[in-house]
Amino acid sequence: MEIEFFGAAGEVTGSCHILRVAGRALLIDCGLIQGGGNAAARNRERFPFDPVEIDAVFLTHAHLDHSGRLPLLYKQGFRGPIYTTAASRDLLPVLLYDSADLAAREVERINRRREPGEPPATALYDREDVAQCLGQVKALRYDTDYAPFPGVSLCLREAGHILGSSSLQLDLQEGALRRRVVFSGDLGQYDSPILHDPHRFSSADLVVMECTYGDRLHRERDATLQELAGIIAEAAATRGNIVMPSFAVGRSQELLYLLGKHYDDWQLAPWKIFLDSPMAIEASKIYWRHVDRHDDEAQQLRASVAAMPALPNFVATRSVEESRAINAHRSFALIIAGSGMCNGGRVLHHLARNLPRRECHVIIAGYQAPGTLGRSLVDGAERVNIYGEEVAVRAALHTVGGLSAHADQRDLLRWYDSFENRPPVCLVHGEPEPLAAFKRELAARNIRGWAPGRGDIIDILAATTSTTNVR
Ligand code: ZN
Repeated sequence: MEIEFFGAAGEVTGSCHILRVAGRALLIDCGLIQGGGNAAARNRERFPFDPVEIDAVFLTHAHLDHSGRLPLLYKQGFRGPIYTTAASRDLLPVLLYDSADLAAREVERINRRREPGEPPATALYDREDVAQCLGQVKALRYDTDYAPFPGVSLCLREAGHILGSSSLQLDLQEGALRRRVVFSGDLGQYDSPILHDPHRFSSADLVVMECTYGDRLHRERDATLQELAGIIAEAAATRGNIVMPSFAVGRSQELLYLLGKHYDDWQLAPWKIFLDSPMAIEASKIYWRHVDRHDDEAQQLRASVAAMPALPNFVATRSVEESRAINAHRSFALIIAGSGMCNGGRVLHHLARNLPRRECHVIIAGYQAPGTLGRSLVDGAERVNIYGEEVAVRAALHTVGGLSAHADQRDLLRWYDSFENRPPVCLVHGEPEPLAAFKRELAARNIRGWAPGRGDIIDILAATTSTTNVR
C-alpha cells in the first residue's frame, strides 16, 4: 500500500497521484499543469508511469487542473474506467472539449509562424481523444460504497468546492491489513452559495489534503456581500456598467445565484445581467439541473422561481453577434464573462470598452496569476494592452476576496477536525508558503504532516504506524 505523488506536489495545478494497493495501480486525478512559464512543455512530458498499467482513475472533480490530461492518458493507452460523480460526468465534456478547442487554436497560431522546414506543432489532444476518453467515465452516487477491485472500497463524499466535487474515502485491504485513506480533493468554503458544506468525516488512518489557502483567511461572507451591494449601488449612481471577469464553472453560477437571491435588496431591477460565455451557459444548465446537490437555501430559492437563475433581467449570450451587441449598453449592464484571469475570452472586448470610462466598474473576484491581464489590473496598472492596443484604466477596480471556491485556513482546519482520531496528513495542492504555514498549524496541534515532493512515495502502513514515512 503506497501513494506516489506526481502532480500538485508543492504546487497548485496538475493534480495526479498513484495509489498502489492489492496489486492495482489507481490514479487519483489526472490534471493539466496550468499557468505561465513551462506549463505547456510540462504537460507534453511523458507520464512518469505507463498509462497502460493504470487500472482505473478516481476523479475528484471536473476542473481541468484535476481532469485536463485524461484525454492524453487515453491517447497513450489507458483503457480503464474513470470513476466520478454524475455531476462531474456532466461537466467534464464542457471543460474537456473547450480544452481541446483551445489547444487546436494554440497549435494553429504556432504553425502560422512556423519557419519553412520546421515540423508542424500538434495539439496535446483533440476532440476525438476527448470523445473516446469520455466513453470511459462511470458515474457513481455520493455516500455509497463501491468495490471496484478486491481490497479496494470507494465512497465519494461532498467536497463543497464546485458542483460534483468529491472527497474520496478509500477502504483498503491487503491480507489482514486494513487502512482507510481519505483524499480531500479541492475543498470549498463552508456556507458557500448553492452547494452543501464539505462532508464531516469521523475517522481515517491517513488524510491527503489540499491547502491552496493554507496560510490565508478569506473575508467573512457577510462583509463580501455588503461589498458587492455597495459596488452595484455605486455603479447605479455613476450610471456605468459593471464587468465581472469570471471562471465558467463555479464562480459564474455563484454570482448568478447571489444576484438572484439579493435581487430586491441590491436593487437590480434597472440592470440587464449578461452571462456572456457559451461555456458558462452550458455549465449553468448542469448546475441548476443537479438539484440534489443544492443546499436547503438553494432548494428554497429554486422552489420559488420559474427558472434558475432567479433573475427576470437575465440574458445568456451565445453567439459572437449577441456578445458584440452588449457594447451598445452604456449603463446598467452587468456583464459576467470569461476568462476569469482576463488572459483571453470575451471579457477582453468588454474590458476594452469599459476600462477607459470613469463611470464603469470592474469586479475581480478570483485568483489572478502573475503575468495575466487580471493581475495587472489588481496591481493598479494605469494602462493595459488589449488586442495590441493601449487601453487607459479609468474605471473603478474592485477586488472582492470572499468568493473563493477554496477553503481558507480556518475551513481547512474545520474540515480536518471532523476526524476524531487525528490521523497524519499529507499536504498537496499548495504553493510552498501555504504548505509550510499549514504544516505549522498541524504541528502546533501535535498532528503529523508531510508535504511530499514530486516523485515521493508514502508507504501507507509505515505512515500510519511509525514516524519514518517518506522514502
Ligand atoms: Zn478545483
